[in-house]
Amino acid sequence: MYQEFISFVQEIFKTKDFIPLHAPVFKGNEKKYINECIDSTFVSSVGKFVDQFEAEVAKFTGAKHAIATSNGTAALHIALLMAGVNQNDEVITQPLTFIATLNALSYIGAHPIFVDVDKDTLGLSPEKLEYFLSNNTEIINGECINKITKRKIKAVVPMHTFGLPAKIDEIVSVCNNYNIQVVEDAAESLGSYYKGKHTGTFGLIGTFSFNGNKTITTGGGGMIITNNDKIAQKTKHITTTAKIPHPWDYEHDMIGYNYRLPNVNAALGCAQMEMLPSILEKKRILSEMYKAFFNDKSLQFIEEPDKTISNYWLNAILLENNQERDEFLKETNENGVMTRPIWKLMNKLTMFKNAQTGNLENATWFEERVVNIPSSAIL
Ligand SMILES: *Cc1c(COP(=O)(O)O)cnc(C)c1O
Repeated sequence: MYQEFISFVQEIFKTKDFIPLHAPVFKGNEKKYINECIDSTFVSSVGKFVDQFEAEVAKFTGAKHAIATSNGTAALHIALLMAGVNQNDEVITQPLTFIATLNALSYIGAHPIFVDVDKDTLGLSPEKLEYFLSNNTEIINGECINKITKRKIKAVVPMHTFGLPAKIDEIVSVCNNYNIQVVEDAAESLGSYYKGKHTGTFGLIGTFSFNGNKTITTGGGGMIITNNDKIAQKTKHITTTAKIPHPWDYEHDMIGYNYRLPNVNAALGCAQMEMLPSILEKKRILSEMYKAFFNDKSLQFIEEPDKTISNYWLNAILLENNQERDEFLKETNENGVMTRPIWKLMNKLTMFKNAQTGNLENATWFEERVVNIPSSAIL
């Protein structure tokens, strides 16, 4: 059966050589815009491609504002600061995520709390979030206080795993009842929609990543989106040097982070945004092929949840158990078909092993079984 899968992947990617999990595709104006950028000499933190890239991501997602950053981790760091997270505050997120989500909140000196994911989305469960909050918190002076640690819970960070949208409107409505801000880690979900609305636009702030393995890439890069004018303005200010505009004076009114995206990377981003619709179309065709292949097999292909459109950033399947998973990983990787297990749960890493958690039965179940399979948009 695993051999049949390997042959199938080699057939659809038309090669018997190494097949990566996710390779970028540069078939548009990438070289043209980068040359234009170099010719202009504006290759650094100022230039027309940055503005254009921001405008295009705002338009595509339907967000009012978009601010480019040096990477997705930096975008999350600033988003959490803008959501009012301070040192010793607490942030609820899912244990099933990439380490960047946890690194960002740790930079601030905030503490994570882990709440389980849903079986049908692999994203934060609104029911389990409500259960955790109702059992462990009380509202004092309008702030959500953890009854055990006495700390403030300032933000919830759901993540749209592999591009599969989490139940984001329900998560936002639970958070509204507890006066908690929602920062969506939409790093993996550019081109994914929940009930017709783009992921990242439900919470106060959403963030994207344009790392080399994401749906589109700028080499390295990220984006913060929000509908809040004040936050947008402050984000732009703080991601540079927080300089007060003046023809020559150096006056800064707060600590800045120098997280701006260079114009040369944004040039790549502008070309990639032009290609995004066709990249998404190709990824959907690939996912349909996988779905058809796994239809009559014992392995289960993970499909987009109800009422959502997934970008199918990384296609994923469920193995029967941990042993089967390891055998599958061994056989595919030995044959040049790159596959990877889902992340180790964040609460098991040494830095977060003492974090408070809810019941994590679904995340644990996925951790043992989920494997990502080749997903490049190169058909
Ligand atoms: C890729 C990713 C990020 C951001 O990664 P960068 O490499 O810093 O751009 C954040 N969260 C998740 C879930 C990701 O997959």
